[in-house]
Amino acid sequence: MAKDIITKIKEANLLGRGGAGFPTWMKWEAVKKQEGQGKKIYVIANGSEGEPEIFKDEYILKNHPQEFIEGIKIALETFANSEAIIYLNHKYFDKYKKNLEKFSEGFPISYFRKTAGYLAGEETGLLNHIEGQRVEPRPKPPYPAEAGLYNLPTLVNNIETYYRIYEIKNDLYAGKAFFSIEGDVKNKGTFEFPENYPIKKILEETGNWPAFDFFVQYGGGAAGTIYLPEELDEPKKGATSIIVFNRQKTDALKLMQRWAEFYSKENCDKCTPCRESSIRILEMTKKNKLDFDKLEKMFFVLEKTSFCPLGKGMAIPYRTLIEKVLKK
Ligand code: SF4
Repeated sequence: MAKDIITKIKEANLLGRGGAGFPTWMKWEAVKKQEGQGKKIYVIANGSEGEPEIFKDEYILKNHPQEFIEGIKIALETFANSEAIIYLNHKYFDKYKKNLEKFSEGFPISYFRKTAGYLAGEETGLLNHIEGQRVEPRPKPPYPAEAGLYNLPTLVNNIETYYRIYEIKNDLYAGKAFFSIEGDVKNKGTFEFPENYPIKKILEETGNWPAFDFFVQYGGGAAGTIYLPEELDEPKKGATSIIVFNRQKTDALKLMQRWAEFYSKENCDKCTPCRESSIRILEMTKKNKLDFDKLEKMFFVLEKTSFCPLGKGMAIPYRTLIEKVLKK
């Protein structure tokens, strides 16, 4: 007997490709359990890709639209009484919707143009946006699998995750992931490698290992962690974005300022530590006066009291840049 797709996803050990790395089969199974109650099930593809310097989902929309849509169709076949929404940031919507429609025609698949900011990429912020509510994360539980869009069972997966599901269904999956490479490199772009490949090998094999002193931000152009060259032999967790910085040519304070501008603009103002810290850090960087003790206290409070991953993770890039680059 042919294996069902959820078993195949579990055996493939597919982790969500949006950055959080949650086992995909668990989401699918949780949604499957909601079947049979006569409820509609929503299948959502999250193509918000709103963090600076991450563009691997765009690579899929451009180069593998049919395979991506096939992944959505597999979800529609898996869940009874389901319909799909492809949620795309406004640039991707304007560029790729027309071509995607060639493959989705005749299926219950619609498109939603993301006009909200970064937080609409968080799965519950996304649901709020589609419902026309204020874009901010929802408390969990309940999880979207039980009570998502319009309080109905909802599967939210990233664009690449659906692409990998197409591969799994067709026995083509080889445990690979798309990595975007940006910054002070010769060959910028999106490259496919085994998901646990070390950054050093990725940079070497794409002709991007620098001949100069450098550091790397891995995991996104705002929330990513800073690593030094000697730390790149081991695989890293998180969003598969690699940004290389020439150490001599990079003004680390300006880099912090760029992140602070992003965070002060993109946080949703719901909790005080996140809202206030992002503004205070921006002020410090603009005045060129970093108070490391005060910053460390802010980071502690951010990690302990922020409501969502944006606030909780905000300290990571600052702290790693301060320890590895600014203080050295
Ligand atoms: S941590 Fe920041 S982004 Fe998240 S809910 Fe609080 S204010 Fe909003």
